[in-house]
Amino acid sequence: MKTYSTFSDLENKVILITGASRGIGREIAKHLATQKSHLVLNYRSNPKSMENLKKELIDLGASDVDLLNFDLIDLDKAKDVINDFCKNKKPIEGLVNNAGISKDSLILRNKVEDTKNILDINLTAPIALMSILSRYFLKVEAPSVVNVSSIVGLMGNPSQTNYSASKAGLIGATKSFAKELAPKNVRCNAICPGFIATEMTDALSDEAKQRYHQSIPLGRFGSSSEVAELVSFLLSRSSSYITGETFKIDGGLYI
Ligand code: NAP
Repeated sequence: MKTYSTFSDLENKVILITGASRGIGREIAKHLATQKSHLVLNYRSNPKSMENLKKELIDLGASDVDLLNFDLIDLDKAKDVINDFCKNKKPIEGLVNNAGISKDSLILRNKVEDTKNILDINLTAPIALMSILSRYFLKVEAPSVVNVSSIVGLMGNPSQTNYSASKAGLIGATKSFAKELAPKNVRCNAICPGFIATEMTDALSDEAKQRYHQSIPLGRFGSSSEVAELVSFLLSRSSSYITGETFKIDGGLYI
């Protein structure tokens, strides 16, 4: 079994993760379970598989696991569900805005609906969640937000105009939120993964994967658990003097 770093203050910390059903979000949930955190997992479909994940996370050490069902396109429902949880169960102390979508297209063929949809999920929804939770963050001890951006939010990428714009926007939102709430001791940082082996990158052809490996100084895609380690660090007090920062985790791709 993989061994993880330990951040003892994450024990019992109530942390909401969006997009925890698979990929990077699922690995972040597992990592935080080993830290004995109280996990609040947002999902939009497949409740049975989420119940199985809940059991797995409890076995890994999570102090509690709650499942919140809402689609990030429906922010009224998200607001109701999150407020209900914070008022009736426990105030949320950490947020990982991880859920995201991509749909590559040459700009020549871009559809306005695709631009809107990608911005809705990757940018409007994370900002809405930060806004909903900000009132609760004022009442808890060491609140921290981690926004999962992307290296292409910094570098751009052909056929990813919408996705890059959404991820670049999230970095700006991170900095403004960090500045506004720093006086209240609320921290907020963004991470910019490069190529991480998940379903998102599995969709690439072998030829494309090989080409990308050659462009990464460390010569490989990253793993979700490497990203999860960074997220746990940023949620924990080990990063207590870091806010508004943008962390590349890309095997040197950006250099
Ligand atoms: P993934 O495997 O495609 O998983 C995406 C997650 O987001 C799923 O849990 C999905 O839920 C959820 N989601 C999508 N739309 C949603 C909606 N409308 N409402 C609620 N949940 C929604 O992606 P990943 O590779 O793990 O990526 C996670 C994050 O890292 C994303 O923000 C992505 O942009 C970023 N990132 C990934 C890479 C990479 O190489 N993989 C690199 C840089 C940045 P369902 O299961 O219901 O679909």
